[in-house]
Amino acid sequence: MAKKTIRDAQVRDKRCFVRVDFNVPMKNGAITDDSRIRAALPTIEYLISHGAKVILASHLGRPKGQVVPELRMDPVAHRLSELLGKKVVKLNDCVGPEVVAYVSGMSPGSVVLLENVRFYPGEEKNDPGLAKAMADLADIFVNDAFGTAHRAHASTAGIAAYIPAYAGFLMEKEIAALGKLLEDPERPFTALIGGAKVSDKLAVLKNLLDKVDNLLIGGGMANTFLMAQGYGVGKSLAEPSMVGEAREILDKAAKKGCKLLLPVDVVVAAAPETGVPAKVVPASEIPEDMMALDIGPETRKAFSAVVEGSKTAFWNGPMGVFEVETFRGGTLEMAAALAGVDGFTVVGGGDSLSAVEMSGLSEKISHLSTGGGASLEFLEGRELPGVAVLLDKD
Ligand code: ADP
Ligand code: MG
Repeated sequence: MAKKTIRDAQVRDKRCFVRVDFNVPMKNGAITDDSRIRAALPTIEYLISHGAKVILASHLGRPKGQVVPELRMDPVAHRLSELLGKKVVKLNDCVGPEVVAYVSGMSPGSVVLLENVRFYPGEEKNDPGLAKAMADLADIFVNDAFGTAHRAHASTAGIAAYIPAYAGFLMEKEIAALGKLLEDPERPFTALIGGAKVSDKLAVLKNLLDKVDNLLIGGGMANTFLMAQGYGVGKSLAEPSMVGEAREILDKAAKKGCKLLLPVDVVVAAAPETGVPAKVVPASEIPEDMMALDIGPETRKAFSAVVEGSKTAFWNGPMGVFEVETFRGGTLEMAAALAGVDGFTVVGGGDSLSAVEMSGLSEKISHLSTGGGASLEFLEGRELPGVAVLLDKD
């Protein structure tokens, strides 16, 4: 069902609580990549030019319900001001009497950025009290945070119980592009999955088997599957508690005739650091004192062949610790394979997008999604909580 967007809303003179995804990567207090801020600009600029009072809210990092000074939103407000060419006031809280007072004095076309919503424990718990306090600040709710739409949090879902909810333009664009993967994708359809958020994402893979013809698993995600095959993974990132789940995924793939490829060789080293000696070993022979940190050359060849033969391809999660040059090769080769697909390609996820950016091949990808976990869950065919709460088009 199509969702109402801000084009369908009366926004002039209205206080609009806009949930954005400003969860930008930071190093020593500086933003290292402002893509996520830029991605929200069309919505923010539309609201400004239509005379709305724009109240922006986002999370940054994982402060887990406490005030973490390094995760305050000030650098984001500063960068946003530069991008908009307009003052963005930053408040030190996201709810409460002072915020209410400030917001009630806003003039049309002005922009304020609230404090990191995850400083409140109620945010991730979707606490109704916090959601109501957020809703009390505004006349309408706009969700433009596709990257967190798979989470039912106070500022992504709960708030919509109290005020009418509309999609922003980024949300609209993401739903349209990813929707193409669900509605009759051209086959073969391949999903390439890697990265580090194993417990978050592993369960999603089982449902993905109903959608895709080929599932390629690399990166940190693969190690739990290597364990499920009975191999030792040494000191590698892995989730022993999910080995059973991984085994079920392997069984289901075999039953369905879905081609599931795992690494046959990996690059190992003592630590994911520059300068440590690295070597290639078979995936069944990871030394006990080492970590698998990239896919090996045989695996790259096999994965590339499947990707290049696809008509539709989706990728989330780097194939190795691509931040360190020694372990970047597999990820860059996969970026090249995807760029070579004659068909529809999607890459999703913050780190995955950085990796594609590094490869210089971003322009060869059909759609770059800001959501990693969100795009994966969308692909399962489930309606995301942050999308479900939006008003349906008539
Ligand atoms: P995205 O942000 O694209 O959704 P994730 O956050 O799930 O992706 O995963 C990205 C992280 O996974 C990167 O920081 C990368 O270093 C890490 N990673 C990939 N492969 C491995 C591995 N074999 N061992 C440890 N970490 C890995
Ligand atoms: Mg990430």
